[in-house]
Amino acid sequence: MEEIQNKIRREVVQLLSEGQVDVVIGFEQGSLPLRATPFFLRDIADANRLVWSPFCENNLATYLTKIQGKRVGLIAKGCDVRSVVALLVEKQIHRDHIVIIGVPCQGMVDRRRIEREVDGEILKAHQEGEEIIVEGRDFRKSLPRKEYIYPSCKRCEHRNPLIYDTLIGEKLVEEAERAYHEVEAFEKLSPDKRWSHFSEETSRCIRCYACRQACPMCYCAECFVDSSFPKWIEKGLDPSDVQFWNIVRAYHQTGRCVGCGACERACPMEIDLVYLTQKINRDVKELFGFEAGLDLDPPPPLSTYRVDDEQEFIK
Ligand code: SF4
Ligand code: SF4
Ligand code: SF4
Repeated sequence: MEEIQNKIRREVVQLLSEGQVDVVIGFEQGSLPLRATPFFLRDIADANRLVWSPFCENNLATYLTKIQGKRVGLIAKGCDVRSVVALLVEKQIHRDHIVIIGVPCQGMVDRRRIEREVDGEILKAHQEGEEIIVEGRDFRKSLPRKEYIYPSCKRCEHRNPLIYDTLIGEKLVEEAERAYHEVEAFEKLSPDKRWSHFSEETSRCIRCYACRQACPMCYCAECFVDSSFPKWIEKGLDPSDVQFWNIVRAYHQTGRCVGCGACERACPMEIDLVYLTQKINRDVKELFGFEAGLDLDPPPPLSTYRVDDEQEFIK
């Protein structure tokens, strides 16, 4: 980790000092243990604030649509790069404005699970080899990193950045668990049980929209929930509005979601969100042979029209 971090810092210093980029988006240490926070680096004097750790969980591609007009260096995991590809396909960003500093990713660690399972307040955390070391006032614990990575990272099939300008570190062997096993488990439930899972989960939603803000593919200038003309949805926490919000957010990801899990990790209420988008991802893969963020060429399925489309669903 430290070697990769040092290489990232050296690369970034070179990019900024040669004027190849105006800003680099990476991570710095968060103010709490088990946290790294997005960092916008403009001055090489601050390069030593950049970190690379198992806590660099945000999908940094989400900022690309917000800082247009600058040349941006992006420190990018496999899922960040898939989002870059998806945004390029949707013509939201320009490839020649972005320098991708790709970093093969071992998976990010589920900090909430660690906090729940460790007794006592964690004051420090870091990785040593394959262990996550957490320390408090009167304890020091060692946890196996692989067992604590996020579910979205366990099912990730593209830890290696698919495109990049510079690659930091060696490529990893891709070793995902079955990608859609949560969807398969959900589909096995009766319709009543599926509905009660969905309604119980969404009943905790406070409509903070952190899931939307964390997602690189949610870039509309005005989201449907914020529109007052036309008004699609009420502002309150009535169950039908909350359910409508969650369903439409998921549907708007059709053929676009890269499965990074950033939405679920951002949710302060820990609502199960990704099974909905994973279900749509799997359907799009089966029906159209398309997965978001893997290829720059084919247009996303919902952006195209085929005269000979059989449209079996309306027969
Ligand atoms: S989804 Fe894949 S690339 Fe993204 S953080 Fe997890 S393991 Fe890394
Ligand atoms: S919907 Fe969630 S999993 Fe899909 S791209 Fe957005 S943040 Fe990632
Ligand atoms: S982040 Fe969670 S609580 Fe906030 S709007 Fe999204 S689902 Fe609801």
